[in-house]
Amino acid sequence: MYDTLIPLLVLDKIRQGFDGAALYLEQDLLKGPSCIDGCGKCCMVNVPQMTTIEAIYAVSVLTGLGRLGETLSICEDWLLNRSSEAPSYEGMMAGRFVPSFIHAEHEALSRSRCPFLTKDLRCFIHEARPMACRAFGVTVAETKGICPRPLARGETMFSRHIVNCDNLQKDWRLLWKACKEAKAGWVVSGFAPAMILRAGNEPRFRALADSNQIATAKIIGGDLDTNLMWQYQADRLDAGESPDLVVSELKLQ
Ligand code: SF4
Ligand code: SF4
Repeated sequence: MYDTLIPLLVLDKIRQGFDGAALYLEQDLLKGPSCIDGCGKCCMVNVPQMTTIEAIYAVSVLTGLGRLGETLSICEDWLLNRSSEAPSYEGMMAGRFVPSFIHAEHEALSRSRCPFLTKDLRCFIHEARPMACRAFGVTVAETKGICPRPLARGETMFSRHIVNCDNLQKDWRLLWKACKEAKAGWVVSGFAPAMILRAGNEPRFRALADSNQIATAKIIGGDLDTNLMWQYQADRLDAGESPDLVVSELKLQ
């Protein structure tokens, strides 16, 4: 219990840091909203990654909001849906070499519509969304040209305001350390619907995975290319560095 509490408290501090940065961005830099209500364009091309500890945190938040049951149904529907992006059913492949065709399916899935995006283009798990979603457009610049938010003073198409959150990196490293001391698996990441179902109803997740009802690309480990929290990581990836190296270095610091 105590072991779980420390990582969750550190994660909540990081969450507050992102939310504070978003507020600063809107109030001091943009002088207006950082997101268009009911837009959802970025969520139509992104199924986010989430660590296990974030999923545990999300389950706790969603339980408090009375929305866990519905969220788990969304997760399960996504996992069981035979999506065209992920046609291979080779099992979980935990700890095994992942063949390139599964990597390609994982990549295609990561660019598909997030299952938590509602019909009215809002985030169903907004209060419990992954840190990667909180970082988007706040600590990590939007570089793909999909965001229709009007440019603020001092911004160009290629240079948008972001907030320097170097102070949060210290807390992020503290989180890895606390997780590794408590349970190393809590730093493992994967697609958010898989991680939330596993954290919220492990027996159900295991039953579906073990009976091979879930496409492999949906349940392989996700430290490939989307677990980005900081602009400097995005810059290094853009410069051609290995995603595994960029992400693992952060975890080892
Ligand atoms: S694309 Fe931009 S405006 Fe639209 S939901 Fe994403 S961050 Fe908000
Ligand atoms: S979790 Fe929410 S914010 Fe993140 S991609 Fe999905 S709908 Fe968008």
